[in-house]
Amino acid sequence: MSRKSDAMTSYRLVDLLSKSNQYKTVIVKGWVKAFRANRFIALNDGSTIENLQCVVDFKKTDESILKKINTGAALEIEGELIESMGKGQSVEVMVKSIVIIGEADPNIYPIQPKKHSFEFLREKAHLRIRTTTFSSVMRIRSVLSFAIHKFFNDKGFCYVHTPIITGSDAEGAGEMFRVSVLDAKNPKLNQEGNVDFKQDFFGKETNLTVSGQLEAETYAQGLGNVYTFGPTFRAEKSNTTRHLAEFWMIEPEMSFYDLDMNMDLAEEFIKYTLNHILEKCEKDLTFLDQRLSTEEKTKPQNERSSMGLIEKIKFIVNNNFKRVSYTDAIEILKKSKPNKKKKFKYLIEEWGTDLQSEHERFLVEKHFNAPVILFDYPSKIKAFYMRMNDDKKTVRAMDILFPGIGEIVGGSQREERLDVLESRIEKMGIDKKELWWYLDLRRFGSTPHSGFGLGFERLVQFATGMSNIRDVIPFPRTPQNASF
Ligand code: ATP
Ligand code: MN
Repeated sequence: MSRKSDAMTSYRLVDLLSKSNQYKTVIVKGWVKAFRANRFIALNDGSTIENLQCVVDFKKTDESILKKINTGAALEIEGELIESMGKGQSVEVMVKSIVIIGEADPNIYPIQPKKHSFEFLREKAHLRIRTTTFSSVMRIRSVLSFAIHKFFNDKGFCYVHTPIITGSDAEGAGEMFRVSVLDAKNPKLNQEGNVDFKQDFFGKETNLTVSGQLEAETYAQGLGNVYTFGPTFRAEKSNTTRHLAEFWMIEPEMSFYDLDMNMDLAEEFIKYTLNHILEKCEKDLTFLDQRLSTEEKTKPQNERSSMGLIEKIKFIVNNNFKRVSYTDAIEILKKSKPNKKKKFKYLIEEWGTDLQSEHERFLVEKHFNAPVILFDYPSKIKAFYMRMNDDKKTVRAMDILFPGIGEIVGGSQREERLDVLESRIEKMGIDKKELWWYLDLRRFGSTPHSGFGLGFERLVQFATGMSNIRDVIPFPRTPQNASF
């Protein structure tokens, strides 16, 4: 079959399938998802979850071409777009010519048109984006990031880029990854016998950031309202379905905001982004909803979620988050059945203990059956920069807890009083000298201010119903794993 001149432009499937009656002769480019009966090509180009059925007349097509129409191969197809007689699609393409752009040997191409486990696909992370599930997840991830920027931009927030390499070791949010160019086998030592970071690239010890908050605060104290949205790194060995060593975090920081305003903003923000994907990602969500309900059916009855994915997202968008103080939450937990019957691994006995995820899940999934904002935590279990309450025991912290995910947001009103902040820093044994610039903010034009951090992948997890955080980021980094 000969190829006509390329006078026509080629179309992306998303446009072609949504406004199909505008087109007659089309050129499409994409990858073969499946090839049935030597006749029906399911072609996908990544612009939409939907495949385009391309019908080949095998009698008029070279055997050498037919042999190369394998799953995973890249093709350029020219043909007539017609109404489809078959069920499953409204239009299809009667193929006039095919160019094999890139072959995929069926004997070794790992992504076949059948169900692969997510574990298997993680090892093929460079090819898993060719599957329906991962392309849906990643399209939603992209739409969500855009919604985040749109939300803050519409509100007049300034987008700031805080450093990824940090010289401050007082961020306090977790274990850090060191950034160094010293010879690992033979680092220079100082007189005390320790590694001499004066000889290192920056002349001091530096790490990958665990949070952009402290730097974002400095910008909020000049620009008013700011946000960061960038990668953060934690070297904790938490091998869970909710932790990554490299993840993306959204951190708004607002001058003249108290904790209530902070909670209002966080709730509005989450609802806005989720509503945005309900509007923009209907087809991907419908597919993931069905995928999830099939997966749920494999679980024992009592562990199944009572709501489908879209239902869960709508529930968040349409209901108020429950706001509960830490102190009230402890009372609820103390009196709860699993505590009395000693079903919790960590029993709640006294005020002041940190909540474990089993407690958070009880509050969200059993007791309130709604997202929960816990606030006013004991100062002992929270970071030095959170504003001390008048009771001198609790700080103006807030965590937002989500069903199935646990903590999705951690935030607080920041301590703006120099003397109070200094005494907290001392009490917690943090080196005050390191924080000179942060303390300066309290010396010059200090204002009440607040902010929070939302883990982007946890939001994507919730929005897509994926149970493992490794499946919502293109190339996950976790302990013992940084392939690709
Ligand atoms: P957790 O208790 O769940 O480990 P955290 O209290 O250490 O979280 P924060 O320091 O408050 O987390 O970070 C803000 C947000 O970043 C969290 O609410 C969460 O959504 C997200 N987050 C924290 N650690 C991770 C991680 N290792 N991987 C992915 N997201 C994370
Ligand atoms: Mn937290």
